[in-house]
Amino acid sequence: MIQAQAYAAKQAREALAPFSFERRDPRPNDVVIAIDYCGVCHSDIHQARDEWGGAIYPMVPGHEILGKVTAVGNAVKNFKVGDLAAVGCMVDSCRSCESCKEGLEQYCDEGATWTYNAMERDKKTISQGGYSSVIVTDESFVLRAPKNLDPAGVAPLLCAGITTYSPLRRWKVGPGMRVGVVGLGGLGHMGVKFARSFGAQVALFTTSESKREDGLRLGAHEVFVTRDPSVFEKQAKSFDFILDTVSASHPMDAYLGLLKRDGTLCLVGAPEQPIDVSAFTLILKRRSFAGSGIGGIRETQEMLDYCAEKNIVSDVEVIAMNKINEAYERVVKGDVKYRFVIDMKTLSQ
Ligand code: NAP
Ligand code: ZN
Ligand code: ZN
Repeated sequence: MIQAQAYAAKQAREALAPFSFERRDPRPNDVVIAIDYCGVCHSDIHQARDEWGGAIYPMVPGHEILGKVTAVGNAVKNFKVGDLAAVGCMVDSCRSCESCKEGLEQYCDEGATWTYNAMERDKKTISQGGYSSVIVTDESFVLRAPKNLDPAGVAPLLCAGITTYSPLRRWKVGPGMRVGVVGLGGLGHMGVKFARSFGAQVALFTTSESKREDGLRLGAHEVFVTRDPSVFEKQAKSFDFILDTVSASHPMDAYLGLLKRDGTLCLVGAPEQPIDVSAFTLILKRRSFAGSGIGGIRETQEMLDYCAEKNIVSDVEVIAMNKINEAYERVVKGDVKYRFVIDMKTLSQ
């Protein structure tokens, strides 16, 4: 077994604290990765605090994982010792259902094996995430990471990046489209960057006046601060597509009203409470209200390669492992520019 040092949540109402556990020895198809950086996603907080229910403790969160390969199983084809490698939100799936065959493992009929807070496919090992020194993952779920980019800025691409890239591609966002991104956090700032890079006319909707300048710098053509409710009247019926990244309850009808006839609002933010939507908001303009979950392995690799080519990374604040509990508080307050990333060298501090 491989000894792993980590930080874990021991129960919902406790701060994360140092924790050690064992990873499996590499099987023939496994890649062993010494983790350099791990991003801090709002989903880590939702799950560590059991806001979505069903949490499994002790829980080592983290699914924006970047590091170096230190060993490979004897059947591994695509990785060798020393390679830069990455792991995102999934570490396995059934591999035989329709979604898996189409490369959409996140929608696996049996349920994908999430990187943490889940049972591995043996149904007895708890999967543990990237706030740790090492991870052992089947190579089918390991990504090749760009070498030309800042590695700390690459880590968040594994969740915040793919979760915004995938729906923007799915709804064919590009030139001639007016696109809104709601919320400027980890996902939102990547959504703004990608939508701009794909050639759309991009507007950011934020609750924070203080993020106006950053919104423009990150690529939005316009920024609307939604504390002023007249924004929803003035911009009504003018968007082709809206990507909603908000982590807490907010008035959905107001945002749906921004869509043109036949427009789509796609939810990627995952508030814990159910959402109220008026039938007439949808019916009267044939609008669609959709959702999207991360992205498949093939598309995640496509996204990483796209970022390498276009020099796209996340804007990050690198923190020491022992600052994780303060970082969680700041994320919940919307005080993050725009992703915290843990430097794993600091694990033993
Ligand atoms: P984050 O960094 O905390 O960003 C969320 C942003 O939402 C905040 O920065 C804030 O932006 C806005 N916001 C927060 N509370 C709000 C409120 N009450 N009303 C309006 N806006 C509010 O979080 P994240 O890591 O980007 O994650 C966002 C959400 O996506 C989380 O729920 C997460 O679990 C979910 N998620 C889903 C997937 C998926 O596969 N679908 C993947 C990853 C994450 P402003 O200050 O600009 O208003
Ligand atoms: Zn995430
Ligand atoms: Zn499947």
